[in-house]
Amino acid sequence: VEEPIHEAVLGRAAERGDMPALVDGVDGTTLSYGQLDRFHRRLAAAFADAGLRKGDVLALHSPNTIAFPTVFYGATRAGASVTTVHPLATAEEFAKQLRDSATSWIVTVSPLLETALRAAQLAGGVREIFVCDSASGHRSLVDLLGSAAPEPRIDIDPVTDVAALPYSSGTTGIPKGVMLTHRSIATNLAQLARSVPMDEGERILAVLPFFHIYGLTALMNAPLRQGATVVVLPRFDLDTFLTAIERHRITGLFVAPPIVLALAKHPAVAGYDLSSLKYVISSAAPLDAQLAAACAERLGLPPIGQGYGMTELSPCTHLVPLDAADAPPGTVGRLVAGTEMRIVSLDDPDEELGVGEAGEIVIRGPQVMKGYLGRPDATAEMIEPDGWLHTGDVGYVDADGWLFVVDRVKELIKYKGFQVAPAELEALLLTHPGIADAAVVGVYNEDNNEVPHAHVVRQRSATELSEGEVMMYVAERVAPYKRVRGVTFVDVVPRAASGKILRRELRGRS
Ligand code: ATP
Ligand code: MG
Repeated sequence: VEEPIHEAVLGRAAERGDMPALVDGVDGTTLSYGQLDRFHRRLAAAFADAGLRKGDVLALHSPNTIAFPTVFYGATRAGASVTTVHPLATAEEFAKQLRDSATSWIVTVSPLLETALRAAQLAGGVREIFVCDSASGHRSLVDLLGSAAPEPRIDIDPVTDVAALPYSSGTTGIPKGVMLTHRSIATNLAQLARSVPMDEGERILAVLPFFHIYGLTALMNAPLRQGATVVVLPRFDLDTFLTAIERHRITGLFVAPPIVLALAKHPAVAGYDLSSLKYVISSAAPLDAQLAAACAERLGLPPIGQGYGMTELSPCTHLVPLDAADAPPGTVGRLVAGTEMRIVSLDDPDEELGVGEAGEIVIRGPQVMKGYLGRPDATAEMIEPDGWLHTGDVGYVDADGWLFVVDRVKELIKYKGFQVAPAELEALLLTHPGIADAAVVGVYNEDNNEVPHAHVVRQRSATELSEGEVMMYVAERVAPYKRVRGVTFVDVVPRAASGKILRRELRGRS
């Protein structure tokens, strides 16, 4: 798809006129498609008038709000590359991203203004900071909307120009800036729409953050392209989330496994009318098949579908189509159109594996990133000269082409020559009625063997649950080499905003 992202998403916004594009899930404020179209154009004009030039980087530092997409598309229409920033980032973390991405413009919200000012001061090079709302008295986008400046005529080359510069989650190392072109994002949206069509009038709940590529794609770009209504929540809180589903008659949910876990197990769920839901899709981290089935059954829904992707893949390569009746439990989906995959041996990347054999997932397609910003070495390590991208994830394909993700190569625990996937043990632990949440990491024992160690959150009703019982529960159900060799009880499992377990934070505590 050779179109700038704002055209690909908002090409039909004007004709959709009064249809609601975005609704604030808490106070009900609504932005229509017509307004989204007009406002993002005026903002593009005002940004250009303020001095923004093609290729400038604009940092969007905001929780989910109904204004977020207007700023995003306004900036890309003015020719900027948008780098989205975690709203909870410290000034130091934010400054690092500003420096790394050579950002010259910041858009933030009043409650975060102080952090943004401090970050800009630490980083240097920022020309101006705008605030979305007018609460702080700082230069506001609300004033810019009144601008009479003419719409800029920017020549965007969708194939080479970078539309978005999201940072990877930093689960396995430092977050890296990922250069995604207009074409790679727009093409991926077209690929996704074939499997998950979304109709005009559908209502999608945006509870995962827009700043992460999953939320940006599934909760912002895709539904707005299709004419659905996006109901926006600024953060996840179970009661607010359930209230929003009930009150806004939400039809589709895109979530991460921790939310599936809550929907399957939390007692509060029973108190809400969730009958408007037609489907739930989970992505971003391993989801256990039993847990998925329990969630679907409790909500009276068809099986929970999954998607698979990563920031470097714009982000998606696999999806379970909404109308697939034959998807086996646990699959993350089928390859989207126009994309190739190989499973290669972990010992020898030149050896391609066959059906049912687990190895590294390697991808080639139009959604592969342009590269990591300013890191040619890291880019070359990940992408071969002929375009194949090494995902760092382990998976296998069944005879019908369904992909199953085992875990990340880096997270596999190597016990005496065997490989243990933490995700498998975590899924098993969650089937214990006394366990509310769990994370498994590899730790070294006295004999210098790497062994699985579990961090477990007890259910409130299970205060007596002991370390021995947890180890026994696992030992009775897995091959001996997979046994959990130690347990630490914790209050909460640390997770990234996208729902991924932060295992490196746990390793020091095992
Ligand atoms: P970093 O690369 O900075 O360490 P990250 O890999 O967590 O962070 P993301 O791009 O947000 O950053 O996440 C992509 C990863 O998420 C994939 O490589 C994969 O490990 C995991 N993932 C995505 N979807 C699924 C899924 N359906 N099942 C299992 N894992 C998934
Ligand atoms: Mg990664």
